[in-house]
Amino acid sequence: MDFETTFIAQVITVIGFAVGLSIVVASGRYPRHIRNSLRAYAYGKFLLGFGFLIAGLRGSAAPDLLVPLANGLGITGLAMNYTSVRHLQSRPVSPLAPAAVGLAVAVACLLLLFVDAGIASVRTLVSFTTAAVLLGIAFEVLVRYEGRGIPHYVTGVLCATLAMVYLVRMGAGLTQEETPTAYMLDDRVERTTFLLTLLGTVTGAINYVLMASDEFNRELAKLAHTDGLTGSLNRRRLFEMGEIEFRRARRHGRDLTVLVLDIDRFKSINDRAGHPFGDRVIQAVADCCAGQIRREDAMGRIGGEEFAILLPETGLEAGRLLAERLRSAIERQLAQLGAEGGVTVTCSIGGVSLTREHSEFSDLMAQSDSALYDAKHAGRNQVRFFPTVSLTPALHA
Ligand code: GH3
Ligand code: MG
Ligand code: MG
Repeated sequence: MDFETTFIAQVITVIGFAVGLSIVVASGRYPRHIRNSLRAYAYGKFLLGFGFLIAGLRGSAAPDLLVPLANGLGITGLAMNYTSVRHLQSRPVSPLAPAAVGLAVAVACLLLLFVDAGIASVRTLVSFTTAAVLLGIAFEVLVRYEGRGIPHYVTGVLCATLAMVYLVRMGAGLTQEETPTAYMLDDRVERTTFLLTLLGTVTGAINYVLMASDEFNRELAKLAHTDGLTGSLNRRRLFEMGEIEFRRARRHGRDLTVLVLDIDRFKSINDRAGHPFGDRVIQAVADCCAGQIRREDAMGRIGGEEFAILLPETGLEAGRLLAERLRSAIERQLAQLGAEGGVTVTCSIGGVSLTREHSEFSDLMAQSDSALYDAKHAGRNQVRFFPTVSLTPALHA
């Protein structure tokens, strides 16, 4: 295969437009931030297509002024691919940054041509910038992206490899003898670079759409696991996680404590201050608890005004202390909101710590429920733990 660079540039144009168009059409199915990211990516491909369209025109000895235009558009397009990866992760992006980078490259190219530095210096500058943006994308997907999968690794390796190719092209620009600017370069380095760019455009787009789908699936899974009112886990997910933590703690002989928290006399809060105010109280209690527990702990809303909290690696004493801290934090932090509605917000907490007598997660839930019942009967706004037979941490079962 030995195609001329102008021909490869024309193929990249067609592929860039086709890929961009397909992604714009597909983006309609996704939620907003993923749709925006896909569209930014597609517009980047359109610009890249335009850049190569103009570059391809140079086969017919087009004016020098097209050089800055083609390179500026191409770089803007590539920089938009960088920002779309950040979009996908909801990281901050400056919408004008790609255009600024493209404009800077176009102006620099123009100056180089103006001072008659020759096309080799343009090649060096544009290759360097392209490699830098590609390495930026590789860094985003290989290092910073949370929840990376195969498409992220493929994208990262592809971008890093292409960056190396452009660095070789930069080397060629540095060592090359000066050539007239009227025609496109057509040496072996240029042909190889363009062919690999073509390959990268197709493979990159496929993997980008896969990355967007991954993100979409992650959002769906999150929605399926989340309680709409409080943002904590829903009942089903809390129980799933409870089963997982229970098995892990049993297998490795680790501590595990479960708390069940119920807002006191919530019916009368609703009656006195109204249902919407009751909802605010539920949200505030959830926020207060979320602020007190660790990242490794899990909290779920398991009933109207009832929460369960899983505390892995936490034994009886530490569990009691945390439960007491939660109880008093709610009493203190919700005093102001309660006063707004003319009510007092407190909660009762029942807990249990894993021992070798427990054989299923549901045992822990039943016993913490029973401890909660004791706390209610003891007058509410209290913490009670289920009196387990063995107070030693669970040993290997
Ligand atoms: P106790 O101290 O014994 O827990 O008394 P309580 O009034 O809290 O008792 P109970 O658990 O029976 O009452 C819960 C009430 O919570 C009943 C229901 O109307 C209300 N509720 C359930 N879900 C929601 C919700 O999403 N929002 C609001 N505002 N109220 C809810
Ligand atoms: Mg209640
Ligand atoms: Mg209740």
